[in-house]
Amino acid sequence: MNLRLVLGDQLNQKVSSLSDINKNTDVVLMCEVWEEATYVKHHKKKIAFIFSAMRHFAQELKEKGYKVHYTKLDDPDNAGSFSAELERTISIYKPEKVIITEPSEYRVLQDIKSLDLDVPIEVRPDNRFLSTHSEFSSWAEGRKQLRMEYFYRQMRKKYNILMSGDKPEGGEWNYDNENRKAPKEGLSIPQSFMSEPDEITQEVIDLVSERFSKHFGDLYPFHFAVTRNQALQALEQFIKERLINFGDYQDAMIQGEPWMYHSHLSFYINCGLLLPLECVEAAELAYREQQAPLNAVEGFIRQIIGWREYVRGIYWLKMPKYEDENFLQAKRKLPWLYWGGDTQMNCLSQCVKETKENAYAHHIQRLMVLGNFALIAGLDPDEVNEWYMIVYADAYQWVELPNVTGMILFADGGVLGSKPYAASGAYINKMSDYCKRCRYKVSKKNGPDACPFNYLYWDFLIRNEDKLRSNHRLTMIYRTLERMSEEKVEAIKNDSKRFFKTLDGGEIV
Ligand SMILES: Cc1cc2nc3c(=O)[nH]c(=O)nc-3n(C[C@H](O)[C@H](O)[C@H](O)COP(=O)(O)OP(=O)(O)OC[C@H]3O[C@@H](n4cnc5c(N)ncnc54)[C@H](O)[C@@H]3O)c2cc1C
Ligand code: SF4
Repeated sequence: MNLRLVLGDQLNQKVSSLSDINKNTDVVLMCEVWEEATYVKHHKKKIAFIFSAMRHFAQELKEKGYKVHYTKLDDPDNAGSFSAELERTISIYKPEKVIITEPSEYRVLQDIKSLDLDVPIEVRPDNRFLSTHSEFSSWAEGRKQLRMEYFYRQMRKKYNILMSGDKPEGGEWNYDNENRKAPKEGLSIPQSFMSEPDEITQEVIDLVSERFSKHFGDLYPFHFAVTRNQALQALEQFIKERLINFGDYQDAMIQGEPWMYHSHLSFYINCGLLLPLECVEAAELAYREQQAPLNAVEGFIRQIIGWREYVRGIYWLKMPKYEDENFLQAKRKLPWLYWGGDTQMNCLSQCVKETKENAYAHHIQRLMVLGNFALIAGLDPDEVNEWYMIVYADAYQWVELPNVTGMILFADGGVLGSKPYAASGAYINKMSDYCKRCRYKVSKKNGPDACPFNYLYWDFLIRNEDKLRSNHRLTMIYRTLERMSEEKVEAIKNDSKRFFKTLDGGEIV
């Protein structure tokens, strides 16, 4: 018999470790381990979601006649780590070998490889992704710049998605220029998918409430899908109700509307409940049946077969050194406001509040508010990475790290993005209604009432001039800086100094 180890983000019967399972002899091992739940202090909702999805998946396997050895977190003989649990179950079942799908995170793969077990361990490719490690590295080899757009086109062709013969559907590969509409008043945003906790979920919620009370985030209300059927319903609901507007308002932010027209599927795709290709095919079908416009469908598909696969490719190409990148030598400690501390900056306050409540923020909140501030305030990449790993229910290092180190902090010096995503308050004002309710004035560039993003943006460019000036995408911006009067530059530096003194002193900004 073989022992088949299924990790908490491999919850799909099509996963490679289960492909040739013998129901009569083999045993599936699943375990909730303290080490994984606490190596960073994950958001309470994230832990409850993953444990509940694992327990439901184990139940489904059992109902289908599989033998499952499931260790709950509070089982008295839980050994606490994957390695210890593996050793314990090997001594019980004495398998010929252990079979596992490659862990999605480098750290876990290293742990598995370093195990000294009495039986061989077979690590199979992770078929929850659409591109393999070797495919990505051959694509990357010899390229001066690794741009997502070119990788994405290759994926479109490979899977024949939104293609018209060998040409992209509609004539263009990318319709992003149609996807930047500012939010308008009176938008009616459909409710996101919600499921009510059943007995299994309630038991997990009680466990998390008792054991992880000190972790960040609200546990209630809990409405995540926790089974494949529910996740499929969430997908269907997105395709029917929100995909139509996904493109237009992809970058828009409205106070009190955390979910907008996004899909809220990352949790389910990342833990295996949904497969990326089925999400993409459902969106393409909606386009072919004229249920959703091309700009929305192409935009959604690009996020999944483009960005998602691309960041994973970068992760495996660049690990383990990628974890230590700090191109801009940023050192500032993560301010308390990221943990819900008071701030008068309304955009940050809203995005942190929603993150705490939902273990979710949509892409533009993560990128252009929380991420933009982390970049221009010079926050330490280690601290920022840890925060993003903790707070989002979809966070796993393979996706979190490239988005933080590469996309928001430019800490990799331009491997992932061609320039830093720094922006002043004008961007946030254009794409949201946050500024209307803020104590700061977005129209003011300097002085105590000015929006801090306005002067911090220029201060960031000044502070990092030696590293960024040669970036050709910043040439125009540095020319504008050159033309600024000395008084203006002094005002920017003084405002930023005052702001940082308050921030670093732990006072409210
Ligand atoms: C700083 C930062 C940190 C992030 N951390 C994570 C993370 O830990 N886990 C995570 O899944 N995504 C992360 N993202 C990417 C993106 O913000 C989330 O995937 C998205 O917000 C999830 O919500 P959604 O399902 O409603 O996405 P939608 O906007 O509906 O997009 C559809 C799908 O595309 C994929 N996707 C979109 N953008 C990206 C991207 N940049 N990288 C990878 N996949 C993408 C996701 O699977 C998502 O479900 C991060 C982005 C930033 C800027
Ligand atoms: S004024 Fe500035 S700080 Fe306030 S919400 Fe707008 S961008 Fe954010």
